[in-house]
Amino acid sequence: MEMIKIDKKDWNKGLDRSRKTYRLVGPVKRAGEDLAGFYELADKEHPDMGAADTVLSAKSVVYPQTEVMFRYTTDKNSPDCNRLKRPAADYSPRAVIGIRPYDAAAILMLKKNFDTPDYRDPYWCDAYEACTFVGLAVDAPSSTDFSTSTGSGPFSEKGLDVLLVDMAGHYLAKVLTDKGAAYMKAAGWQRAADAKAAAQQIEKKKKAAEALIVSSVSFDKIARKSILDLYKADFWDDVAFSCINCGTCTYVCPTCWCFDIQDESKGKTGVRYKNWDSCMYPLFSLHGSGHNPRGTKTMRARQRFMHKLKYFLDKYDDGIMCVGCGRCVRSCPVNIDIRRVCELMNRYGPDPDACAV
Ligand code: SF4
Ligand code: SF4
Repeated sequence: MEMIKIDKKDWNKGLDRSRKTYRLVGPVKRAGEDLAGFYELADKEHPDMGAADTVLSAKSVVYPQTEVMFRYTTDKNSPDCNRLKRPAADYSPRAVIGIRPYDAAAILMLKKNFDTPDYRDPYWCDAYEACTFVGLAVDAPSSTDFSTSTGSGPFSEKGLDVLLVDMAGHYLAKVLTDKGAAYMKAAGWQRAADAKAAAQQIEKKKKAAEALIVSSVSFDKIARKSILDLYKADFWDDVAFSCINCGTCTYVCPTCWCFDIQDESKGKTGVRYKNWDSCMYPLFSLHGSGHNPRGTKTMRARQRFMHKLKYFLDKYDDGIMCVGCGRCVRSCPVNIDIRRVCELMNRYGPDPDACAV
C-alpha cells in the first residue's frame, strides 16, 4: 500500500488533469441548495472538500434516483416493435471524489443485493465498475454519527480505492487498490510520503475522530432472537406512532435499495424507468388485488427496521444493514431514531446470554 502526499496547491490542477481520463463526481452546492448531494462536476468545477456531510448520500452515483431501463415501441411497422431496448449509457471511468467512508462501505452493502451469484443487475454493476472511489476521512463526525459501532467509521477503508486524510496544507493519500493507483497517476499525484510517519499521523487523526463519536448501537443479541418474537414485539406501535410515512429516512439512507419499475407510454412509444421507492409508502406493497400486506404504518415501520436490523443480519451474517451515518436520525421530521429501535430489539425478550438456572 502506497502513501502519497498531495499539496493542496496541486489539488485542483490534479483534478483537472485527471479529467482527460475520468469524469469527476463530488459534493457541490447547486442553485440555492444546502450541500444536497454528489453530482457530476462541470468543467472547472471542483468538489467542496471542506463541507459538512451531504444531505443525500453518494449512492445515486451507482444507483440513480431515476434510471431509464428500456425504450420500446408498439408500432407494428417498426422492426423493433414490442422489443425492450436498453439505451446506450456512459459508463466511462468516473472518479467519486470526497465520498465519506461510511457511504463507500454502504455501496458494498448495496452490492450484496445488485451483484449476486444468482442475479446481476447490469445497470448497477456497470455503473459501479466504472467508479473509482476517492474517499475523504471524516475529522469531525456529526453528533448523530454512530458509524464505529456498525463496522464502518470515519476513517474506514471499506469500499474505497483511495483514502484521503486532510492534513491542513496537504492531503495524505492512502492508495488502497490498483484502481486507486491508476487514478493517482492520471491526476499526476505521485510524490511518495514517508510511509511510516504518514501511517502514524493518520492513526492519530483516526483516534481523535473516533473519540468524537458519542453514540453507538448494540446488536450482538439480535441474531439469536427469533424473527417471530421480534415481529410480534409490543413496541412497534410506539415506535411508529409519530411516523408520517414521508419516506425521508429511506431516501437519505446510503444502504436502502428499494425501487419500483414504471412504464410511461405516449402514443406508440414508451420508456421503462427504475425509480427509488420506499417501504414506508403504502403503495410500495399494495398488491394488484387491492390487498396490502403492510397496510398500516406500524407494519411499514416494522418492515424497515426488521429488514435493516434482523433479516439482513440473518441472511448475510455480516452485521446490520446500516453504516451509522446518522442521516435518518437528522432528517426524520418526527425524531424516530434507529439507535433507539436497535436497542429495543437487542433488549427484547429473554436474554440469550443469561445463564439458565
Ligand atoms: S439507517 Fe440511518 S444511520 Fe443507518 S445507514 Fe441508513 S441513514 Fe445512515
Ligand atoms: S423519516 Fe421519520 S416520519 Fe418519515 S417515514 Fe421515516 S420514520 Fe417516518
